[in-house]
Amino acid sequence: MRVKCVLCDVIENINDYSPLAKKLRNRPIHTYMCQTCYDRIETRTNERKETGSFRQYSDEKEKDEWVF
Ligand SMILES: [Zn+2]
Repeated sequence: MRVKCVLCDVIENINDYSPLAKKLRNRPIHTYMCQTCYDRIETRTNERKETGSFRQYSDEKEKDEWVF
């Protein structure tokens, strides 16, 4: 089954019998995102999350180190 990525317009061939193909067939409104775009978004989301918590953590650690 040929699907088009909603973000970068790349056309990909996915397995007709995969759960994703079934989902797209049953719900044509459901948008497809290629693995590259999916990874990019996921990485960005994770990076933001990790940076946020990492900064908090290192700030606290730095403070502790300065105190001692
Ligand atoms: Zn894409």
